[in-house]
Amino acid sequence: NGRVLFNSIPEGFPEPGKTVVYDTSENIDLDTVPLNGGFLLKTLDLSIDPYMRGRMRAPEKKSYSPPFLLNQPIDGYGVGVVLRSELPEVKAGDHLYGFFKHVQYDVRTNLEGLSKLPNEHGLSWSVYVGAAGMPGKTAYMAWKEYSQAKKGETVFVSAGAGPVGSLVIQFAKADGLKVIGSAGSDEKVQFMKECGADVAFNYKTTNTKEVLEKEGPIDIFWDNVGGETLEAALEAANVNARFIECGMISGYNSGGAPIRNLFHVVSKSISMHGFIVSRLEPKYGKEFYETIPHKLASGELKHREHVFDGLDKVGEALLAVQKGTNKAKAVVKVADE
Ligand code: NDP
Repeated sequence: NGRVLFNSIPEGFPEPGKTVVYDTSENIDLDTVPLNGGFLLKTLDLSIDPYMRGRMRAPEKKSYSPPFLLNQPIDGYGVGVVLRSELPEVKAGDHLYGFFKHVQYDVRTNLEGLSKLPNEHGLSWSVYVGAAGMPGKTAYMAWKEYSQAKKGETVFVSAGAGPVGSLVIQFAKADGLKVIGSAGSDEKVQFMKECGADVAFNYKTTNTKEVLEKEGPIDIFWDNVGGETLEAALEAANVNARFIECGMISGYNSGGAPIRNLFHVVSKSISMHGFIVSRLEPKYGKEFYETIPHKLASGELKHREHVFDGLDKVGEALLAVQKGTNKAKAVVKVADE
């Protein structure tokens, strides 16, 4: 039975086999492991998300999500199926979504951090950690809460081909905006166009500032990246622009650099809204599940995955997401049903 242990705190990018290690030294006998009133959970799909880099830190450093603990399995969003249960509210065959340790099998004593996942829409389970899960909620909830989008306005979305950005592009198009999206490969540019972006460009081969000068000014900036992209957006912002500060991945592995163009916030009356999705969940959680999964199932909303096959690929997937070599929402497929 494999598990992925946090092995050392990285200085820059997380290194497979060093930052996390795949370990097979412990074995659970699935037929005889005592459940002590709990249940045996089989992991199916694990989400690899950018914020996980922030958890690879010394425990004394404070942040909004808890640090990974050395020599312990890392954890994150996942989907799994119950194999055996002694807990009355959980039955064998139930699918659960929530926080999963990166282990193949886990004995849990209660449903803390987990919820039952009735899949009425026929989506593959992995979608519930992507477009129908935390990243999808991020796009949906913060767009509703902060964009104040008006038909005819212009929005710029960075990291526009990922699970968050690609949904933001589609919500913005549905609201009648002109959408500009940036991403780091031509394949990602193609996907942003399929999502409806009016202007989609590869920021590695095209100058962001020049595109925004030509296609702006921008009324809304959905910031997934920070750094030089944020500098360019501040310069291209309209008066009264809204900046939705979702993430700043360009600094996650280097600490980032101070922002030079911040005075534009004053001179252009820009509102900047940072947020953490879990704080919007109480307000929009129910509405999200009523609205989004069926639109993903029908194809009205587009989404894509990049599947890493096997729990031993977690280290590789963690690095890919930080480097941008993931082609779409990164998911580790641990097991089929
Ligand atoms: P993605 O699957 O899009 O993966 C991250 C992408 O970021 C990479 O694929 C890469 O795409 C891009 N990237 C990496 N390094 C850089 C860089 N130096 N400059 C520019 N782009 C870079 O991620 P998600 O859609 O899951 O997440 C997007 C953002 O949203 C992240 O910043 C994340 O932290 C944030 N987030 C925030 C939440 C919140 O509650 N505030 C919740 C969930 C996500 P490319 O090829 O385009 O460079």
